[in-house]
Formats: sequence, C-alpha cells, structure tokens
Amino acid sequence: MDFRDIAAFKMSYKNNENRKEILRFIKDILKADADGIKRLKELAGEVCELTESVDPFIQQHTEAVCPDRRKVCCVNRHSYHEHEDLVYIYALGEKLPSYSEDVGDREPCQFLGGQGCAIRRTARPYRCNWYFCAPLLEHIQGCAAADYRKFTASIQQLTGKRESLLNEFLRIAEKRMGSLTPRPVLKENYRDSRRGKFSNRTVPD
Ligand code: SF4
Repeated sequence: MDFRDIAAFKMSYKNNENRKEILRFIKDILKADADGIKRLKELAGEVCELTESVDPFIQQHTEAVCPDRRKVCCVNRHSYHEHEDLVYIYALGEKLPSYSEDVGDREPCQFLGGQGCAIRRTARPYRCNWYFCAPLLEHIQGCAAADYRKFTASIQQLTGKRESLLNEFLRIAEKRMGSLTPRPVLKENYRDSRRGKFSNRTVPD
C-alpha cells in the first residue's frame, strides 16, 4: 500500500471543507498511536529546522531575482497545501492559513504581498518552497561552490526526512485502516484511488 491507497487522499485539497476532512482523517489515523505521533512530531520538527536553516540562503536569491520578473510564479493554484503537506502541518502542530475560495487558480496567489509570501517558509506548501524557476536556479548555481554544496546537501537531507515522515504516517495508517470506519466518501475515494494516478509533483505546471 502506498499513499494513493489512503482513502482521504484522493479528495481535492483545494476546498476548505475537504482540507478539514483530510485533517480529521489524519487525526483519526494517529489518535491511538502515541509513539507514532511522537515520531512524526520529531520528524516534522527536523523538516522544519532544516527548512529554517536554508531560508536565508533562498531568501537572498529570491530577493535578487523575483522583483525583476514580469511573470509571477506564485499563482493561486499553487497556494494550497496538498495531502502530504497536511500530514506535515498536522504533525508540526501548525494551523493552516485561512483560504479564500473566491480567488481564481490563475490569479496571483492570495498570500503574495509586497514583501513576498505571507506564510512563513516552514509552513508553506512543499511545492512552494522547493520549486525553483530557471532564472532563480541559475542565480543559485552562480553562488560559491561550497555554499551550493551545503545548500544541496540540506535539501537532500530535508527530502529524506520528509519521506521518513510520510512513510511513518503510512506505517501507522496501514496498522489502523482495518479498525477505522471510513466515512462513505472516503471509501469511495479509496476505491477510485486504486485506479487513479497519484501525483506527487513538486514542480508547478
Ligand atoms: S510561496 Fe506563498 S505566495 Fe507563492 S504560491 Fe506559495 S503560498 Fe502563494
């Protein structure tokens, strides 16, 4: 079983009610496993620390590149926390930002302000933090070799921790699924998810 087999995770995450439902599902899955929750919290804390540690590096490059770009990467369809982000956010004990459903997918992101993103980096959707457009990537690659190596090593470490976090959640979910009584919509999504293709892209389309 993998992530696409978890019932709730085929629900659209672009809807406020669905996100609440997915968070309830995650809470249901975890509630009887104190050790699992402890481990998830540790891993989420480590992902958070690593994200914080690379923040100044990324910030210095986005400040140099983004203001001159006429095409805004931060469009609203990228602003939503996906299912995996919700596991991380839940384990971290973070609150989701409040979303307006009146902003269109192609409009500038509702969290984009004059000073950049209003969500602090550690709580942003994964794709927001780890998507680098070509000009940004080029700028980053122009830095000192030692800084670049340190940056890529941090990203690798962070990706590994996030994967461990999601795998740990899966392990707990597999243990619990038999004793859960999924809501009808979750059962339906569970069946559908076996046929569907799960997307774990981090690069916006
Ligand atoms: S980084 Fe922030 S402003 Fe940009 S798409 Fe993500 S949530 Fe929106």
